[in-house]
Amino acid sequence: MGSESVKVVVRCRPLNDREKALNSKVVLTLDLHRCQCFIEKPGAADEPPKQFTFDGTYFIDQTTEQMYNEIAYPLVEGVTEGYNGTIFAYGQTGSGKSFTMQGVSEPAAQKGVIPRAVEHIFESIQCAENTKFLVRASYLEIYNEEIRDLLGSDTKQRMELKEHPEHGVYVRDLSMHTVHSVGECERIIEQGWGNRAVGYTLMNKDSSRSHSIFTIHLEICNTDADGSNHLRAGKLNLVDLAGSERQSKTGATGERLREATKINLSLSALGNVISALVDGRSKYIPYRDSKLTRLLQDSLGGNTRTLMIACLSPADNNYEESLSTLRYANRAKSIQNRPRINEDPKDALLREYQEEIKNLRALISGQLGTTDLSSLLAGQSPAVPARQQSKTTEEKIKEEYEEKLAKLQAEYNAEQESKAKLQEDITALRSSYESKLSNLEKVQASRGSSVPKNASHCSVTAEEERCLNTDPMCHSTAGATSLTKPAVPCAAVHVQRDPDGNGIIQSADISTSTPLDQKHVLERLQQLEKEVVGGEQARNRELQQKHRQRKNLADQRKDQLIHALSEDSEESESVLLNVYNSIQEEVHAKGKMLVKVQGKLKAAKLEIRDLQAEFEVERNDYLANIRRLEREGQLLNSLLERMVPLVRRDCNYSNLDCLKKEAVWEEDSATWRLPDVMVQKTALPSAVAPKLLTRKGSCPDAGEQEVEEDRYKEMLDRSDSENIASGYFKSKRASQLLGGDAAKGHVVHSPPLVNMAAHLSVSGSNTNPPVSSDPFLPRPFRLESLCVPVSNGKVKRKKSKSHIHSEGI
Ligand code: ADP
Ligand code: MG
Repeated sequence: MGSESVKVVVRCRPLNDREKALNSKVVLTLDLHRCQCFIEKPGAADEPPKQFTFDGTYFIDQTTEQMYNEIAYPLVEGVTEGYNGTIFAYGQTGSGKSFTMQGVSEPAAQKGVIPRAVEHIFESIQCAENTKFLVRASYLEIYNEEIRDLLGSDTKQRMELKEHPEHGVYVRDLSMHTVHSVGECERIIEQGWGNRAVGYTLMNKDSSRSHSIFTIHLEICNTDADGSNHLRAGKLNLVDLAGSERQSKTGATGERLREATKINLSLSALGNVISALVDGRSKYIPYRDSKLTRLLQDSLGGNTRTLMIACLSPADNNYEESLSTLRYANRAKSIQNRPRINEDPKDALLREYQEEIKNLRALISGQLGTTDLSSLLAGQSPAVPARQQSKTTEEKIKEEYEEKLAKLQAEYNAEQESKAKLQEDITALRSSYESKLSNLEKVQASRGSSVPKNASHCSVTAEEERCLNTDPMCHSTAGATSLTKPAVPCAAVHVQRDPDGNGIIQSADISTSTPLDQKHVLERLQQLEKEVVGGEQARNRELQQKHRQRKNLADQRKDQLIHALSEDSEESESVLLNVYNSIQEEVHAKGKMLVKVQGKLKAAKLEIRDLQAEFEVERNDYLANIRRLEREGQLLNSLLERMVPLVRRDCNYSNLDCLKKEAVWEEDSATWRLPDVMVQKTALPSAVAPKLLTRKGSCPDAGEQEVEEDRYKEMLDRSDSENIASGYFKSKRASQLLGGDAAKGHVVHSPPLVNMAAHLSVSGSNTNPPVSSDPFLPRPFRLESLCVPVSNGKVKRKKSKSHIHSEGI
């Protein structure tokens, strides 16, 4: 398996209004021919500019169109052949990442990479011969290290990352949307784009704070000359990363700062992955350090062709950020990927569709005959092939123009004929339904017992109506809905429901299926065949040629670049190998080269110094982060220390050490799984209910006992707060009268907040007895349960009274 490096291009945007207002100088220069980029350090004119070489350089005037055609085109084309591809834009906020990826509609040349890739893919699909494609799209964002489905029903829901031994890392339950055209795809992109999280920073007021990944999944089925099918699958990830600037520069605070930390976490994880891959010595690649690197795992050192677009600001006040982007990009160049065509994907949906189509075809061709079936599916009458035959002979004679005209004409005719066919079907359905209904009515009239049958038919009709209203698969019948709805037979309903197609053959009998069954099987067939696209413009020579030209353009440019770069190295070699006419000439040539090399040496030394300085700054950034996190951690710990004693003792959350031991870190969701909150009921002596029973049993006078219970209940039913409040103040007065000890005792033994209810109950029952005129006191059950069990309720109450009394006063 061959390996290829990650392709890297840089794109520099024009100075923006803010930079112009600040009178910023341009510090970036590009050599478009050699794809080199130079950056000058502001205020250090004596230092040579730093130089980087990439696979492409695009300055202020270059358009996205040019960039796409030169570098992105072959990658996207590869996806339609079964390769995986990833294009990602990297750079500080406001450097033009979204401008490059999403772009603007005006001028057309600045349309972004995403819409261009969509158009390109559909163009290739339409030009493909003997090939069918199933195209699906998904759109997600990573915001604050949480994955969200931008096309899902709930865009705020956190999605989970999973890993499959064969398919690699994927997002569980991510919504996939089948698309059949550029328009459909654009609508989906717009919808997802609108759902992205954006926030305000000094760098760019619309700046996106999240990383977003739009993915087009292709399943490709190619039919070769002997009629056998070959399946492949390709995937194109289009990634728009959040800004890479340092936090201090953005003026971010609070929530924005938290976001920035997470964004930087993902990006520094990306940087670490790149470094580890490039290093060659590291066995461990830290993909798991962030969601972004996990999702891009296959794009960095895996089975994917990858293109990185490093976006830059030319202004001197962004020098540090631009330099850091250039270094990042320079490192990424050395990553080696191992792209291969994904042959025979195991769980291809296209295969399932094909199986179902085969089954349905087998089912219905027995009745219609193969020619009729294919013409019906194509929406044409059986007479059309003959005409097509004559058309193909004409084709050979006439010019391309006529060919197109004939095609259009054929399409128009086919449409007309299919309309007529549909009308016929509807009439047939209606008459069949009516005859069935009248038969049924006759049977019903003759036999009263036929009612349940009728009822079941109704329920199926209602079901089908629901299906027609909700199931997108049923929408293709929209034109005939009102007429066909009542006539839907059970078999047809089954066809619509069965996901794997097995039920279709079971439910519909080939020999006995009615025209109604045929209609629904045909409908399903048409729906399935509409799901796949491909080859619509296979005869459009103009488009085919345009397609080929664009492919060649990219190849030509690559050759030019290789040539330009080799010129440089040849030049330096020739200085050494040249035979000179005179010593002066040799000295002059070699002296020139020496100056050049000395310049390089100086640049390298400066680079080392700058790298060290940058490393220092980064280190300080990390340290500041660590300190901040430590402070946060300390605060939370202090809060916990105060709060844990307030948690009731019988709850498992009162023991932090145990909780820490039981907590499990879940890698997939990057969250802690904590034990459930549990309250262990302490086995205390049975409380009121059993006692009441005992009392009931032992009491000589059951009537008196009942009255006593009623009053007791009554007391409990009264407002607790009323009793507690009155009791509390009474208690205070009583204790004041009897001496200060009891009052002091209250303050000293004030229990924690969580147990406040218990405390209040105790106070209430403590003080009520001496002052209450009522002999039956509203005592809480729990308090009673603490008493020594006694056989007689009255005795027990007295005991507890005295006990509380002595305790409270
Ligand atoms: P980012 O996504 O990197 O935060 P944007 O793509 O939103 O930045 O670009 C910031 C601003 O710069 C936008 O107003 C955009 O129109 C403008 N801009 C970026 N790149 C270019 C370019 N190549 N040509 C013209 N304007 C650009
Ligand atoms: Mg952006």
